[in-house]
Amino acid sequence: MRQKGENCSLKITERNGDMDWKDALLDIVKDSDSRIRFGEPLAKHTYFGIGGESTAYIEVSTVAELAALARFHRQWNVPVAIIGRGSNLLVSDTGFNGIGVRLIGELAKLEVDGNVISVGAGLSLPRLSKTMSRQGLSGVEFALGIPGSVGGALIMNAGAWGSSFGDLVTDVTVMNDTGELLNLTHAEAEFEYRHSGLDAYFCVTGATLKLEPGDADAITARMQAFYKQKVETQPFAEENAGCMFKNPPGDSAGRLIDISGLKGHRVGGAEVSTVHGNFILNIDNATAADVLDLVAYIQEQVREKTGISLQTEVKRLGFD
Ligand SMILES: Cc1cc2nc3c(=O)[nH]c(=O)nc-3n(C[C@H](O)[C@H](O)[C@H](O)COP(=O)(O)OP(=O)(O)OC[C@H]3O[C@@H](n4cnc5c(N)ncnc54)[C@H](O)[C@@H]3O)c2cc1C
Repeated sequence: MRQKGENCSLKITERNGDMDWKDALLDIVKDSDSRIRFGEPLAKHTYFGIGGESTAYIEVSTVAELAALARFHRQWNVPVAIIGRGSNLLVSDTGFNGIGVRLIGELAKLEVDGNVISVGAGLSLPRLSKTMSRQGLSGVEFALGIPGSVGGALIMNAGAWGSSFGDLVTDVTVMNDTGELLNLTHAEAEFEYRHSGLDAYFCVTGATLKLEPGDADAITARMQAFYKQKVETQPFAEENAGCMFKNPPGDSAGRLIDISGLKGHRVGGAEVSTVHGNFILNIDNATAADVLDLVAYIQEQVREKTGISLQTEVKRLGFD
């Protein structure tokens, strides 16, 4: 994962005399809905349930505060990581030496104008999917079983059952690290399979989607059928971060892991799911090191048995 400020020195500088950056950060959080915590365990904020502490963790509820945070990041040279729902994220055992940020409030808003939807990056995908189906708008039925945020879905171009989130997007709003908002066209977002060009910016703040009007009952039935199929074919009980590897062109990572005899293989507390080979489960207090050792073993075995190099889909935070 590209941490904002990664190219700058990771040393957190102290300026303004003896003032610590953590004291200065308190001045940014002004809205009563926003929250700031120090030494926040990031395991609580990831679906893997793994990871050490973030030096600071902020729930930001206004665009103005987010812009102030962008400028703070530049001024103090402190790394910032936007964390959506942490459903595609592995955090290091030593945590993140910087500021974890979650978008809430006006950054998680939903506005519907006919079939044109303005959605904040902080909104949850399942909520978007349910709300749209109730309103008779088709396009996001595939997303009920994807437990991410809209921002995470834009960054990852999340998808399932042949649909990708980027296909619905007409434009995306991003913020750069001067706090300025920019509007990008669909083409400028550079959507590809489980990838976009949006991680070049400080933060994705929202998007406009164009959905297809249709029958609410039929859309809801389709959404529920997708969800049922997902629950039947993928692990849901244990902590995981979705598919660990991208599918290689014309093949499926799960199939390659399966034919390599790796289902059920375990390293420490991390295990390859016996339900779907592309999922790594945290079955017994797994560490990030367990997960990465298992990832390396899978890559080595699959390469040896099939000649194919698997690339990871899950993003990493806090690894140097
Ligand atoms: C049970 C399960 C099932 C899943 N099924 C699917 C599936 O069917 N299809 C699929 O594609 N994925 C699936 N996933 C993976 C995951 O849900 C998606 O990739 C999702 O889009 C990630 O969103 P998030 O908000 O959780 O992102 P996070 O995991 O929080 O972050 C992912 C990356 O995006 C960045 N990011 C997040 N929000 C922003 C923002 N606003 N601005 C800038 N950067 C941001 C983060 O910094 C990080 O680099 C699944 C995961 C789980 C746990």
